[in-house]
Amino acid sequence: MILEGPPVAQKILSEVKAGVRELGFSPGLAIIRVGEDPASRTYVGTKLKRAKECGITGVEHHLPADATQEEIAVLIEELNSDDSVSGMILQLPIPKHLNPAPLLELISPKKDADGLHPCSLGRLFEGSPGFVPATPQGVMEMLEFYKVPISGKNAVVVGRSSMVGKPMAALLLNANATVEICHSRTDDLGEHTKRADILIVAVGKANLISADMVKEGASVVDVGMNRNEEGKLCGDVDFENVIKKASASPVPKGVGPLTVACLMKNVLAAAQKSASD
Ligand code: NAP
Repeated sequence: MILEGPPVAQKILSEVKAGVRELGFSPGLAIIRVGEDPASRTYVGTKLKRAKECGITGVEHHLPADATQEEIAVLIEELNSDDSVSGMILQLPIPKHLNPAPLLELISPKKDADGLHPCSLGRLFEGSPGFVPATPQGVMEMLEFYKVPISGKNAVVVGRSSMVGKPMAALLLNANATVEICHSRTDDLGEHTKRADILIVAVGKANLISADMVKEGASVVDVGMNRNEEGKLCGDVDFENVIKKASASPVPKGVGPLTVACLMKNVLAAAQKSASD
């Protein structure tokens, strides 16, 4: 089975639209973008477009590539105290002279729409409710939509970033999978991935996962986003061959649309929480 992202994203976005209508006001999403990374400009454009479709007021705060840590910190504090902002994100990556961790920590945990504040990540690992990073949340939505059983299954996550791999592993563990995390120092990656009933790959290396590294009948979700030699978007998994023996998500039209949809879900949740406080 092809685990396509768009039908799942549509379902989430229609739920968000309904939630915004019920809320009775337009939640605000502030997006801080620093510098001129072309991919970030495209992602932010998509986020603003989806926000508008959902009835969310998206505002981009674009700072020049030579912005200082202090300037971004001041902007975050302003947005923290702006009641029209329900949720806020700092679009990553930011230029190399800046340190993202202290900036992410400055975002009010109540407005942490990307779920990357240590409070949000701590709650996730504790198994308590809170904001969950959009990409791994999207993967869980995909597994649920396609009725992939999780409880008691062997799940292998390849990649251990704070944005994808680690929260992904926590979500699968919270859903009662038996979870392994692999990374660049893992010996014999294929020996691990072959044991996976659910294989999530978030690395950023085209064709890292070949069909012989995948168990027959597994469910494989490819988070990776790479450009192949012809400049075409592709994932980390050899989709054409893996799909012959397992369910797999394609790239594009896989996890990408889910990330944006789950961001909108987080913004709605932030607005609902602030309205009820
Ligand atoms: P990242 O921070 O660069 O992390 C990559 C991870 O892959 C690291 O944990 C690294 O291990 C591991 N790794 C590198 N080479 C490996 C190898 N040969 N075998 C096994 N593991 C290896 O990247 P990220 O932010 O998590 O993103 C991962 C990919 O997902 C990228 O392609 C990114 O563009 C994509 N992405 C897509 C979406 C979406 O919406 N579709 C959203 C976010 C990210 P170490 O920790 O040991 O270095």
